[in-house]
Amino acid sequence: MNLQVISLGIMTLSALAMLLAERRWPYNADQQLFREGFWTDFVGYCLLQSYALGVVITVLLFWLNAHTTWSAHSVIGSWPVWTQVLLFLVTHDLYIYCFHRFQHGNRFFWRLHEAHHSTPNVDWLSGVRSHSLEILINQTIEFAPMILLGASPEVPIIKGTISAVWGMFIHANIDIRLGFLQFVFNGPEMHRWHHALDREAYDMNFGTKFALWDWLFGTAFFPDRKTRKADAYGLEDKNFPLGNGTAYFKQHAYAFRSHAETQQEMYDHAHAGDAAPAPADGAVPSSAKLSDDAADAASRAKLPDDAAPREAARAEV
Ligand SMILES: [Zn+2]
Ligand SMILES: [Zn+2]
Repeated sequence: MNLQVISLGIMTLSALAMLLAERRWPYNADQQLFREGFWTDFVGYCLLQSYALGVVITVLLFWLNAHTTWSAHSVIGSWPVWTQVLLFLVTHDLYIYCFHRFQHGNRFFWRLHEAHHSTPNVDWLSGVRSHSLEILINQTIEFAPMILLGASPEVPIIKGTISAVWGMFIHANIDIRLGFLQFVFNGPEMHRWHHALDREAYDMNFGTKFALWDWLFGTAFFPDRKTRKADAYGLEDKNFPLGNGTAYFKQHAYAFRSHAETQQEMYDHAHAGDAAPAPADGAVPSSAKLSDDAADAASRAKLPDDAAPREAARAEV
């Protein structure tokens, strides 16, 4: 049977299995199947965006292959397929850890990542919500080495299938405990905290498939679950467009709002209720302007509508 058909079958069955497991063993019992933005995620991101980006990235990689001679050397083509898959699983996951961590610390690249953090319900489907430019960067970097190193043709399909299933798993609303495996592999236990509206958990648990990176590099957040549980998710920025309908396009456009606009939102939020008159013509008073560092910190802390710098925010916890 065609490997692509098998891949599609595995992804569909995995989605159904996780959906059923979410109903049977929910981590957050109040989450609904057809929650906010379900259709945006399923139709906009999962079906249409995945298909369109698949075409664009394939064309890019064909172009890359045609303009280099690297693939002709087939550096790893003679390796057993499973070793090739393992190589790309580990190396790409380390890259994703680094890039993901960088995105949380850089106000421009955070713009491409905040859509992924926007859902107030983390479930089997919500992981697909990622800005198309973020996916374009990450998947081009994921698949280009396979082409350039002359990997076997089945490797991208197997790796792509594992990534899709793992992506569903780490976001799934399933009360699963991996035990000591959690020190190596990532699962919902740690990734749900990455999405949690809990300032102590911000900028922690960057791993995708391997939690090992977080434990090695000091970014693991894994409180005792007997006493503490993630129960709210999303962004503190209440202006982020959510819902169905045209939300897919609005979420993409939101990444390109002006920096001045963000500062104005911070000012408005910080001064809500003040007796002083609002600044004329929408200008941000110089006294209210945040330094780039403060704006960066607030943005990274998912607080674009909160003038409190990150350290002050931490002190409130
Ligand atoms: Zn993140
Ligand atoms: Zn996620």
